[in-house]
This record gives sequence, structure tokens and C-alpha cells, in this order.
Amino acid sequence: MTITDYLTKDWDESKTLTREECLQILNFPDNQLDLLIEAAFKLRTKYKGNRVNIQLLTNVRSGNCTQNCAYCAQSRDSQAPIEKYKSVSDDKLYGDNNLVDEFHLSRHCIGLSGMGFTDKEIEELAERIAHMKKSGTHICCSIGFLTEHQARILKAAGLDRINHNLNTSRRFYPEICSTHTYERRIQNIRMLQSIGFEICCGGIIGMGESKEDVVDMLFDLVAIHPESVPINFLLPVKGTRLANRDISGLTFEYGIKILCLARLLLPKSDIRCAAGREIYFKGHEKELFKVADSIFASGYLTEGGQSLEATFRQIENAGFTWAIESKDE
Ligand code: SF4
Repeated sequence: MTITDYLTKDWDESKTLTREECLQILNFPDNQLDLLIEAAFKLRTKYKGNRVNIQLLTNVRSGNCTQNCAYCAQSRDSQAPIEKYKSVSDDKLYGDNNLVDEFHLSRHCIGLSGMGFTDKEIEELAERIAHMKKSGTHICCSIGFLTEHQARILKAAGLDRINHNLNTSRRFYPEICSTHTYERRIQNIRMLQSIGFEICCGGIIGMGESKEDVVDMLFDLVAIHPESVPINFLLPVKGTRLANRDISGLTFEYGIKILCLARLLLPKSDIRCAAGREIYFKGHEKELFKVADSIFASGYLTEGGQSLEATFRQIENAGFTWAIESKDE
């Protein structure tokens, strides 16, 4: 049976796709893409309804990182002319949190550059999180390696979710970063899960990895079973090691196949089309929202993005909704 027949006639959600079937999905014929999108759409509708969850991202600590992640404008090796600061102002942080509440967005994501933190830094962060939690905002924090003690401080402050990405496959990871290991990331995620955090964990496509690497990363994500899976599509940043990476393979067709595969493997998770959405999926929002139920609006850590108003219009024009009705969603 071909993968097309399997998906359209004999699809059984309870069966895990094999590695071979996953690769067939990444090589799905472009002229039959509608069939693949419809298979993903069924699961998206079943578990996620008709809403696109919008996240707003605030960069709380920017630049001066000790790590050498090749894609990152904040890394120790990056020459990218970004703004660098140790701690964003209360005005900006709480102002963004108010926007999330005012517009009924799904979540406020806060990112901190760096991999290690002192207990004092974590206590200060916890105070700010506790302040924002007073209005009931759902908060996710993208942060490096925490000690269990530090993770518990953030949990006690009310932090809901932590983002810690795998980024790519275990095999390809050393090509992207040599200052920490893939295994350390997995262990950090396991520790966070053991103390009750929701997990946001995904990767970046277009760094030079093979399709087999994409499948391997997705299989590791299935084992982690994160509540949210952000898939980023590389935006090569001038001044980083990947500035001149060939991104000609990053087409809408390839991108949507990856998101479909993520949806088929992790049907109940939020599948987020993160960085690169505005570039690689431009004009294809209707198809995109049939598969992904989650996006960022208003920019990324060091890159600009689409305004909130333009994002709302785009979602509505594609026939989807975005506002959350209750903070418990
Ligand atoms: S991705 Fe995070 S750990 Fe890696 S260089 Fe950027 S800020 Fe540092």
C-alpha cells in the first residue's frame, strides 16, 4: 500500500508511523499535498478545534551567551548587531503581558539568553513571573539548564511551561553546537517534566540536516511528548555561522510536509509554526492553519515579525479563530 492510500483509506491514529513511512511523508508528491494536509487537518480539528493559538514573545535577557549555537544571533561567536541587555525593563515585560491579556492571546513566552543562571537571577525572575501570574496569564519561559532547585523556584512562582528545544537530531547536534550536548538537553527536559512543568520542545529546519535527521528529531520528540512543539524554519542571520546557509530547499511544500508529519506523530500537542512563518508560508496561511494550531505574533527573540493586528486578520481570513475564552485553556 502506498503512503497516500494508507493516509487516505486506512489511517489508524493509534499506530505509530514507521521511520520509512515518515520519510515517505517528507518525500510526499507535491501534486498530492492536499491529501496529506487533509489527513493532518482531521487530527488538528479533532484535538485542537478551529483556533490558532497566538503567543507573544518577550526577550528578557538578550545576547552575551556563553554558548556557540550556530544559528543564534545571541551566541558567543555571533557578530550580529543585536541589542544586548541583562534584563528587560519592567515596562516592556509587564506591558507585553498586558497585551496578552487584553487581546486574549494564548500565552506569554519569555526568553532568556544563556545556559546557566545564579540562584539570585532565578529568584528575581520568579518575582517577575509571580507578578504576571496575578492576572492569570499562561506563561512559558525559554531558558537554559536549570538546577532542580532553580526549577522548583520557578514552579512555585506559578510558571506553567518551559521551552527547551532539541533543535535537531542527536547525530547532527555537534555540527550546530559544541559547548553543550544533546543528551544534556534531554536530561534537563526530563528533570523539568519530573517536577510537573508542561514542556515546549521542538527544532529548527534548514541548518544542513538530512530528512533522516528530521525524522530522528521528531521520534525523540514523540518520546518526550511535549505539550507544545515549535518548528522553526531557519532565518539565516548575518554575523552567525549559518549566515550563508543555502535555504533554497526551504519551500512551502517541504515545510508543510514537516508540520504534517509532526501533527501525525504528535496529534494532541500544539504544533507551532514558529520562526520563518512570515517568509516560507506567506500566501499559504489557509493550508498552514489546517496543520499548525500555534504561531508567534509580533516577532521573535532577535528578529521582527508580523504585527498583532495583521496576524488576527490573516487568521480570520483563513477561516480560523484566535481569541481564548478562558485563561484555563
Ligand atoms: S540558542 Fe540559547 S544557548 Fe544557544 S547561543 Fe543562543 S541564547 Fe545561547
